[in-house]
Amino acid sequence: MSATLARYQDIVGADVVSHLRQLAAPLAGMKVVHVNSTRTGGGVAEILHMLVPLKVELGLDARWEVITGDSLFYQCTKGFHNALQGTAVEITPAMIAAYEETNRKNAETLREVLQEADLVFIHDPQPAPLLGLCPTRRGKWVWRCHIDVSHPFRPVWKYLRRHVAAYDASIFSLASFAQPLPHPEYLIPPSIDPLTEKNMDLPEDEIRQVEERFGIDPERPMILQVSRFDRFKDPVGVIQAYRMAKRYIPRLQLVLAGGGASDDPEGEVVLAEVRAAAGDDPDAHVLLLPPDAHRTINALQRAADLVLQKSLREGFGLTVTEAMWKSKPVVGGNTGGIRLQVVNHHTGFLVNTPEGAAQRVRYLLSDRDRRVKMGEKAREFVRENFLLTRHLREYLTVMLAIVRGVDDRIEVA
Ligand code: UDP
Repeated sequence: MSATLARYQDIVGADVVSHLRQLAAPLAGMKVVHVNSTRTGGGVAEILHMLVPLKVELGLDARWEVITGDSLFYQCTKGFHNALQGTAVEITPAMIAAYEETNRKNAETLREVLQEADLVFIHDPQPAPLLGLCPTRRGKWVWRCHIDVSHPFRPVWKYLRRHVAAYDASIFSLASFAQPLPHPEYLIPPSIDPLTEKNMDLPEDEIRQVEERFGIDPERPMILQVSRFDRFKDPVGVIQAYRMAKRYIPRLQLVLAGGGASDDPEGEVVLAEVRAAAGDDPDAHVLLLPPDAHRTINALQRAADLVLQKSLREGFGLTVTEAMWKSKPVVGGNTGGIRLQVVNHHTGFLVNTPEGAAQRVRYLLSDRDRRVKMGEKAREFVRENFLLTRHLREYLTVMLAIVRGVDDRIEVA
């Protein structure tokens, strides 16, 4: 057995790993291609970094391709992202032209690989037109949507639906995100990898060093949000909540840690808004981190007394999973994938406003035992539901269903 799979056995048990091997056996040698639009930054890149190598380990011929574009392309796709999550956005004809042209250019280099593949997973709207640009494809194509598309801005969805409807299947993270489409739709929530630098155990002195590097006092309470600087993550709402809680807990410290994603052009503007909102408060730390700061984020999540993810829309929220795996209760926005993870009053609290977040922060910080108990529940909830072994099992099952046809039986010896 491969070294990595053997290591997962210690965390999830031998049966789980052996089940994965059985599911993967009939798919051995199959050509699988994943396509998205960034190799660093954001949840999709995080997932593909772990999922693709594991598929290879399980015997599949899996690879990951990334499309690239110019700034008008990313402006357009960020506009799509905002629109799919419910904001009324104007997408100009020039933006649509850049979107289609970028996909045409990327198709020139990817066409051979994509047309040869047995299964292609296209992640999110950015590369969605590739299907129409590969007319002699031989495999099945799946659109994997990571976004909260439960209440999309209709004109934009109407346009994107034309590209998406032609796929053989689609995958959403939650039932409430699924849209009427003329093909089978599957639900697979994402997951984290417990063995990566982002999630592995860290020595205490490394955690203390990271606190020291950023001027965080380990003797005082600290709350944290890790996110791209994106308005849907409501970083300014987090600062408001921190200010309200600080009136009652004067020693409170806030860390807002984030970086950009190469396919997200709005990060700088939002970062400026966040810095302005934080002002010159020495206890409000706004950290701009490089894309490979996984150990640093891990250390900050471990150093925090609790973690916030006060999103206004959230496809899933890997940052929530990461914090819960580190036994931290999460105060999360009552939306999308956060609802799947934060079981209100058990693994954390769901909140709708900065006031609500401040109240829950005060409540949790007032009682260490309560935090520890909730944190333990949070970790077990992730172990049961949101580790990559479950994610991989569901992917393999869907792959078998798509390749063989849903009417065929899946035999697991
Ligand atoms: N992340 C990171 N650096 C940052 C901000 C985020 O490595 O500066 C990671 C974070 O730890 C998580 C992922 O990016 O693994 C974000 O995924 P999530 O689902 O929370 O949000 P998305 O960015 O996909 O909307």
